Amino acid sequence: MGERPAANGANDAKEAKPRARRAAGRTAGAAEGKKKPAAVKPGKPESRTALVRRARRINRELAEVYPYAHPELDFENPFQLLVATVLSAQTTDLRVNQTTPALFAAYPTPEDMAAADPEALEQLIRPTGFFRAKAKSLMGLSAALRDRFGGEVPGRLEDLVSLPGVGRKTANVVLGNAFGVPGITVDTHFQRLVRRWRWTAETEPEKIEAEVCSLFPKSDWTMLSHRVIFHGRRICHSRRPACGACPIAPLCPSYGEGETDPEKAKKLLKYEKGGMPGQRLKPPPDFPGPPAPPLGAA
Ligand code: SF4
Repeated sequence: MGERPAANGANDAKEAKPRARRAAGRTAGAAEGKKKPAAVKPGKPESRTALVRRARRINRELAEVYPYAHPELDFENPFQLLVATVLSAQTTDLRVNQTTPALFAAYPTPEDMAAADPEALEQLIRPTGFFRAKAKSLMGLSAALRDRFGGEVPGRLEDLVSLPGVGRKTANVVLGNAFGVPGITVDTHFQRLVRRWRWTAETEPEKIEAEVCSLFPKSDWTMLSHRVIFHGRRICHSRRPACGACPIAPLCPSYGEGETDPEKAKKLLKYEKGGMPGQRLKPPPDFPGPPAPPLGAA
Protein backbone atom coordinates (compact mmCIF):
# COMPACT_ATOMS: atom_id res chain seq x y z
CA MET A 1 0.00 0.00 0.00
CA GLY A 2 1.29 3.49 -0.83
CA GLU A 3 1.80 6.15 1.82
CA ARG A 4 -1.39 8.01 2.68
CA PRO A 5 -1.34 11.53 1.18
CA ALA A 6 -1.56 14.43 3.62
CA ALA A 7 -4.45 16.79 4.19
CA ASN A 8 -3.77 19.96 2.25
CA GLY A 9 -6.19 22.45 3.81
CA ALA A 10 -7.40 23.64 0.43
CA ASN A 11 -10.64 24.93 1.89
CA ASP A 12 -9.27 27.39 4.37
CA ALA A 13 -11.49 30.45 4.14
CA LYS A 14 -8.54 32.74 3.47
CA GLU A 15 -7.33 30.81 0.45
CA ALA A 16 -8.08 32.76 -2.70
CA LYS A 17 -7.08 30.54 -5.62
CA PRO A 18 -9.60 30.53 -8.46
CA ARG A 19 -12.07 27.71 -8.04
CA ALA A 20 -11.64 26.27 -11.53
CA ARG A 21 -7.85 26.01 -11.17
CA ARG A 22 -8.22 24.25 -7.84
CA ALA A 23 -10.82 21.85 -9.20
CA ALA A 24 -8.68 21.00 -12.21
CA GLY A 25 -5.66 20.18 -10.11
CA ARG A 26 -7.36 18.31 -7.28
CA THR A 27 -7.63 14.89 -8.78
CA ALA A 28 -4.34 14.63 -10.62
CA GLY A 29 -2.31 16.03 -7.76
CA ALA A 30 -4.22 14.41 -4.94
CA ALA A 31 -1.56 11.97 -3.91
CA GLU A 32 1.38 14.31 -4.40
CA GLY A 33 0.79 16.86 -1.63
CA LYS A 34 3.25 17.85 1.09
CA LYS A 35 3.45 15.58 4.10
CA LYS A 36 1.32 16.81 6.99
CA PRO A 37 -0.41 14.79 9.70
CA ALA A 38 -3.28 12.80 8.22
CA ALA A 39 -6.75 13.89 9.27
CA VAL A 40 -7.77 10.30 10.02
CA LYS A 41 -5.84 8.25 12.57
CA PRO A 42 -6.56 4.56 12.01
CA GLY A 43 -7.74 2.64 15.07
CA LYS A 44 -8.62 5.70 17.18
CA PRO A 45 -12.28 6.19 18.11
CA GLU A 46 -13.72 9.37 16.67
CA SER A 47 -15.88 11.71 18.73
CA ARG A 48 -19.21 12.91 17.37
CA THR A 49 -17.78 16.41 17.02
CA ALA A 50 -14.77 15.13 15.07
CA LEU A 51 -17.03 13.05 12.84
CA VAL A 52 -19.25 16.03 12.04
CA ARG A 53 -16.19 18.16 11.27
CA ARG A 54 -14.63 15.48 9.05
CA ALA A 55 -17.91 14.80 7.22
CA ARG A 56 -18.42 18.50 6.52
CA ARG A 57 -14.85 18.87 5.38
CA ILE A 58 -15.27 15.96 2.96
CA ASN A 59 -18.35 17.73 1.60
CA ARG A 60 -16.39 20.96 1.14
CA GLU A 61 -13.52 19.12 -0.56
CA LEU A 62 -15.95 17.36 -2.89
CA ALA A 63 -17.51 20.73 -3.73
CA GLU A 64 -14.06 21.82 -4.92
CA VAL A 65 -13.50 18.66 -6.92
CA TYR A 66 -16.98 18.63 -8.49
CA PRO A 67 -18.16 22.28 -8.61
CA TYR A 68 -20.42 21.22 -11.48
CA ALA A 69 -22.05 18.26 -9.64
CA HIS A 70 -25.64 17.77 -10.85
CA PRO A 71 -28.29 15.09 -11.33
CA GLU A 72 -27.04 12.87 -14.15
CA LEU A 73 -30.44 12.23 -15.69
CA ASP A 74 -31.53 14.46 -18.58
CA PHE A 75 -34.92 16.06 -17.87
CA GLU A 76 -36.87 19.21 -18.66
CA ASN A 77 -39.78 18.98 -16.20
CA PRO A 78 -40.80 17.05 -13.04
CA PHE A 79 -42.66 14.38 -15.02
CA GLN A 80 -39.58 13.61 -17.13
CA LEU A 81 -37.41 13.42 -14.03
CA LEU A 82 -39.86 11.09 -12.31
CA VAL A 83 -40.00 8.78 -15.34
CA ALA A 84 -36.22 8.85 -15.85
CA THR A 85 -35.62 8.04 -12.19
CA VAL A 86 -37.97 5.05 -12.32
CA LEU A 87 -36.15 3.84 -15.44
CA SER A 88 -32.74 4.22 -13.77
CA ALA A 89 -33.25 1.20 -11.50
CA GLN A 90 -30.69 -1.51 -12.29
CA THR A 91 -29.08 0.42 -15.14
CA THR A 92 -26.87 3.45 -15.76
CA ASP A 93 -28.08 7.02 -16.06
CA LEU A 94 -26.32 7.05 -19.43
CA ARG A 95 -28.53 4.26 -20.75
CA VAL A 96 -31.63 6.05 -19.43
CA ASN A 97 -30.55 9.31 -21.08
CA GLN A 98 -30.04 7.49 -24.36
CA THR A 99 -33.54 6.02 -24.09
CA THR A 100 -35.72 8.89 -22.91
CA PRO A 101 -35.58 11.25 -25.95
CA ALA A 102 -37.70 8.85 -28.05
CA LEU A 103 -39.88 8.00 -25.04
CA PHE A 104 -40.71 11.64 -24.22
CA ALA A 105 -41.29 12.44 -27.87
CA ALA A 106 -43.90 9.65 -28.01
CA TYR A 107 -45.50 10.32 -24.60
CA PRO A 108 -44.86 13.88 -23.44
CA THR A 109 -47.49 13.97 -20.66
CA PRO A 110 -48.88 11.62 -17.98
CA GLU A 111 -52.11 11.44 -19.96
CA ASP A 112 -50.23 10.27 -23.06
CA MET A 113 -48.20 7.69 -21.14
CA ALA A 114 -51.21 6.35 -19.23
CA ALA A 115 -52.97 5.73 -22.57
CA ALA A 116 -49.94 4.10 -24.24
CA ASP A 117 -50.04 0.74 -25.94
CA PRO A 118 -48.14 -1.35 -23.37
CA GLU A 119 -46.10 -3.24 -25.97
CA ALA A 120 -45.08 -0.06 -27.76
CA LEU A 121 -44.01 1.47 -24.45
CA GLU A 122 -42.08 -1.66 -23.52
CA GLN A 123 -40.16 -1.55 -26.79
CA LEU A 124 -39.18 2.09 -26.28
CA ILE A 125 -37.78 1.46 -22.80
CA ARG A 126 -36.33 -1.97 -23.54
CA PRO A 127 -32.67 -0.73 -23.49
CA THR A 128 -33.02 0.08 -19.77
CA GLY A 129 -33.74 -3.56 -18.80
CA PHE A 130 -36.64 -4.96 -16.73
CA PHE A 131 -38.78 -3.23 -19.34
CA ARG A 132 -42.06 -5.06 -18.62
CA ALA A 133 -42.06 -4.18 -14.93
CA LYS A 134 -40.89 -0.63 -15.67
CA ALA A 135 -43.60 -0.14 -18.33
CA LYS A 136 -46.21 -1.27 -15.81
CA SER A 137 -44.89 1.21 -13.24
CA LEU A 138 -44.79 4.06 -15.77
CA MET A 139 -48.36 3.43 -16.93
CA GLY A 140 -49.56 3.04 -13.34
CA LEU A 141 -47.89 6.19 -12.06
CA SER A 142 -49.02 8.15 -15.13
CA ALA A 143 -52.62 7.05 -14.56
CA ALA A 144 -52.33 8.03 -10.88
CA LEU A 145 -50.94 11.45 -11.84
CA ARG A 146 -53.82 11.91 -14.29
CA ASP A 147 -56.56 10.69 -11.94
CA ARG A 148 -55.39 11.91 -8.54
CA PHE A 149 -53.11 14.88 -9.17
CA GLY A 150 -54.60 16.65 -12.19
CA GLY A 151 -51.80 15.45 -14.47
CA GLU A 152 -49.10 17.17 -12.34
CA VAL A 153 -46.27 15.61 -10.33
CA PRO A 154 -46.93 16.37 -6.65
CA GLY A 155 -44.24 18.15 -4.63
CA ARG A 156 -44.77 16.22 -1.36
CA LEU A 157 -42.96 13.07 -0.27
CA GLU A 158 -46.11 11.33 0.99
CA ASP A 159 -47.85 11.89 -2.35
CA LEU A 160 -44.88 10.79 -4.43
CA VAL A 161 -44.37 7.51 -2.55
CA SER A 162 -48.07 6.73 -3.04
CA LEU A 163 -47.43 6.42 -6.80
CA PRO A 164 -46.83 2.92 -8.25
CA GLY A 165 -43.12 2.08 -8.53
CA VAL A 166 -42.01 5.20 -6.60
CA GLY A 167 -39.99 4.64 -3.42
CA ARG A 168 -38.33 7.06 -1.06
CA LYS A 169 -35.14 7.29 -3.15
CA THR A 170 -37.01 8.23 -6.32
CA ALA A 171 -39.19 10.66 -4.39
CA ASN A 172 -36.14 12.39 -2.90
CA VAL A 173 -34.51 12.72 -6.33
CA VAL A 174 -37.65 14.40 -7.69
CA LEU A 175 -38.14 16.63 -4.65
CA GLY A 176 -34.52 17.74 -4.53
CA ASN A 177 -34.05 18.41 -8.23
CA ALA A 178 -37.47 19.40 -9.55
CA PHE A 179 -38.94 21.14 -6.49
CA GLY A 180 -35.92 22.43 -4.56
CA VAL A 181 -36.90 20.47 -1.44
CA PRO A 182 -33.69 19.32 0.31
CA GLY A 183 -33.22 15.56 0.37
CA ILE A 184 -30.56 12.85 0.55
CA THR A 185 -30.52 10.25 -2.23
CA VAL A 186 -29.35 6.95 -0.79
CA ASP A 187 -28.41 4.97 -3.88
CA THR A 188 -25.81 2.21 -4.17
CA HIS A 189 -22.90 4.69 -4.50
CA PHE A 190 -24.05 6.79 -1.57
CA GLN A 191 -24.41 3.72 0.66
CA ARG A 192 -20.95 2.42 -0.22
CA LEU A 193 -19.14 5.73 0.25
CA VAL A 194 -20.70 6.85 3.53
CA ARG A 195 -19.89 3.45 5.00
CA ARG A 196 -16.30 3.66 3.71
CA TRP A 197 -16.06 7.08 5.35
CA ARG A 198 -17.59 5.66 8.57
CA TRP A 199 -20.28 8.29 8.63
CA THR A 200 -22.62 5.44 9.56
CA ALA A 201 -22.56 1.69 10.13
CA GLU A 202 -26.21 1.33 9.20
CA THR A 203 -27.18 -0.83 6.23
CA GLU A 204 -30.83 0.13 5.72
CA PRO A 205 -31.30 3.09 3.36
CA GLU A 206 -33.76 4.91 5.63
CA LYS A 207 -31.42 4.66 8.64
CA ILE A 208 -28.43 5.72 6.52
CA GLU A 209 -30.45 8.70 5.31
CA ALA A 210 -31.37 9.71 8.87
CA GLU A 211 -27.79 9.40 10.16
CA VAL A 212 -26.23 11.33 7.29
CA CYS A 213 -28.92 14.01 7.48
CA SER A 214 -27.98 14.52 11.13
CA LEU A 215 -24.39 15.42 10.16
CA PHE A 216 -25.30 18.29 7.84
CA PRO A 217 -27.60 21.30 7.68
CA LYS A 218 -30.67 20.68 5.57
CA SER A 219 -29.53 23.14 2.93
CA ASP A 220 -26.56 20.84 2.12
CA TRP A 221 -28.52 17.65 1.57
CA THR A 222 -29.27 17.76 -2.16
CA MET A 223 -25.84 18.91 -3.36
CA LEU A 224 -24.11 16.56 -0.91
CA SER A 225 -25.97 13.68 -2.58
CA HIS A 226 -24.81 14.75 -6.04
CA ARG A 227 -21.19 15.14 -4.92
CA VAL A 228 -21.05 11.78 -3.16
CA ILE A 229 -22.60 10.00 -6.13
CA PHE A 230 -20.24 11.80 -8.53
CA HIS A 231 -17.29 10.66 -6.44
CA GLY A 232 -18.58 7.08 -6.33
CA ARG A 233 -18.95 6.96 -10.09
CA ARG A 234 -15.64 8.59 -10.94
CA ILE A 235 -13.10 7.72 -8.28
CA CYS A 236 -14.35 5.66 -5.33
CA HIS A 237 -15.58 2.71 -7.36
CA SER A 238 -17.17 -0.37 -5.91
CA ARG A 239 -14.48 -2.88 -6.84
CA ARG A 240 -11.34 -0.82 -7.46
CA PRO A 241 -11.45 2.57 -5.76
CA ALA A 242 -8.72 4.87 -7.10
CA CYS A 243 -7.29 5.79 -3.69
CA GLY A 244 -3.99 7.01 -5.15
CA ALA A 245 -5.84 9.67 -7.18
CA CYS A 246 -8.41 10.53 -4.54
CA PRO A 247 -8.51 14.17 -3.33
CA ILE A 248 -10.11 13.22 -0.01
CA ALA A 249 -7.75 10.36 0.83
CA PRO A 250 -6.42 12.17 3.97
CA LEU A 251 -9.95 12.25 5.35
CA CYS A 252 -10.87 8.67 4.49
CA PRO A 253 -10.55 5.79 6.98
CA SER A 254 -10.73 3.32 4.07
CA TYR A 255 -7.72 4.69 2.18
CA GLY A 256 -5.90 1.66 0.77
CA GLU A 257 -9.03 -0.34 0.00
CA GLY A 258 -8.21 0.32 -3.63
CA GLU A 259 -5.22 1.17 -5.85
CA THR A 260 -2.80 3.51 -4.05
CA ASP A 261 -0.17 3.89 -6.77
CA PRO A 262 -0.91 7.37 -8.22
CA GLU A 263 -0.17 6.45 -11.85
CA LYS A 264 -2.17 3.23 -11.75
CA ALA A 265 -4.98 4.97 -9.86
CA LYS A 266 -5.24 7.73 -12.49
CA LYS A 267 -6.00 5.09 -15.11
CA LEU A 268 -9.05 3.99 -13.10
CA LEU A 269 -10.76 7.40 -13.23
CA LYS A 270 -14.01 7.58 -15.16
CA TYR A 271 -16.18 10.08 -17.02
CA GLU A 272 -14.75 13.62 -17.18
CA LYS A 273 -12.09 12.81 -14.56
CA GLY A 274 -10.73 10.19 -16.95
CA GLY A 275 -11.10 12.43 -20.02
CA MET A 276 -14.24 10.59 -21.14
CA PRO A 277 -17.81 11.74 -21.91
CA GLY A 278 -20.26 12.25 -19.05
CA GLN A 279 -23.61 10.51 -18.67
CA ARG A 280 -25.88 13.31 -19.87
CA LEU A 281 -26.57 13.93 -23.53
CA LYS A 282 -27.43 17.49 -22.48
CA PRO A 283 -25.04 18.32 -19.62
CA PRO A 284 -25.20 21.69 -17.82
CA PRO A 285 -23.03 24.43 -19.41
CA ASP A 286 -20.37 24.24 -16.69
CA PHE A 287 -19.74 20.50 -17.12
CA PRO A 288 -16.07 20.17 -18.13
CA GLY A 289 -16.37 16.97 -20.21
CA PRO A 290 -17.97 16.13 -23.55
CA PRO A 291 -21.66 15.11 -23.64
CA ALA A 292 -22.62 11.45 -23.77
CA PRO A 293 -23.29 9.95 -27.21
CA PRO A 294 -26.85 9.08 -28.32
CA LEU A 295 -28.08 5.47 -28.34
CA GLY A 296 -26.20 3.33 -30.84
CA ALA A 297 -23.29 5.75 -31.23
CA ALA A 298 -21.21 4.06 -28.50
S1 SF4 B 1 -11.75 4.45 -0.33
FE1 SF4 B 1 -10.08 5.33 -1.52
S2 SF4 B 1 -11.07 6.27 -3.32
FE2 SF4 B 1 -12.67 5.92 -1.77
S3 SF4 B 1 -12.80 7.87 -0.67
FE3 SF4 B 1 -11.38 6.54 0.46
S4 SF4 B 1 -9.35 7.09 -0.32
FE4 SF4 B 1 -10.88 7.89 -1.77
